[in-house]
Amino acid sequence: MREAIIKSSETIEELKLEAKQSLPSLYGVGGTAIGGYEALPQPEPPYLPPAKDPYGYTLVLDLDETLVHYYESGGEGSFRIRPGCEKFLKEMSELYEVVIFTAAMQDYADWVLDSIDKPGYISYRMYRQHASPKGMVFVKDLSRIGRPLEKTIIVDNVAENFSRQPDNGIFIKSWFDDMSDTALLELAPLLKCKLALLILFRNRRKKMQRRQGGFEKFQRPDVRPTRTWRKIAQT
Ligand SMILES: [Mg+2]
Repeated sequence: MREAIIKSSETIEELKLEAKQSLPSLYGVGGTAIGGYEALPQPEPPYLPPAKDPYGYTLVLDLDETLVHYYESGGEGSFRIRPGCEKFLKEMSELYEVVIFTAAMQDYADWVLDSIDKPGYISYRMYRQHASPKGMVFVKDLSRIGRPLEKTIIVDNVAENFSRQPDNGIFIKSWFDDMSDTALLELAPLLKCKLALLILFRNRRKKMQRRQGGFEKFQRPDVRPTRTWRKIAQT
């Protein structure tokens, strides 16, 4: 297991160098996101069981170079944790259903996640087998996870990973070892605000739908308009 991690890490380091030279910086050089690895058979969607809270919102988080960075030292594989990671996961789990979607292999990801998420802030984990290979990247197709797109946000350090649903994606800069990094601390208020906006728009959309329903009913010849509908039609 450890050898496999170290071996894949070596390949990743080579690919990072290659990626640095050939890709625009926006695409990041995330360890697991770029590399043209062998794809795994994809399970049938939906990947996640039904949400515990049907009215809740889902936050999909990438792992490598978003929350942690894997490295090796003296032949030992290890990883660093991005500053603010635990606080971020704790705060987000109070607002969202938090799920991890990584293009990394399951063994490696579980090893990292079991260590960084002892309190259990993360509800579900998705791995390389859940990602859709597209050229040199694994795309994280949110339409396959089993959550309504209008209630799902993905945060990833590789913009191409959410290229199927760019409107759902928030790009975060790649993190390797800068302990003065504040990206997660800065992202938390944005996601709190975003949730408030999403709920606001959802309520507004429902109101609009109710109104449209009212109009349609109003136009049906077999239904006589009531005073309430007339009032709605005037607003
Ligand atoms: Mg990444």
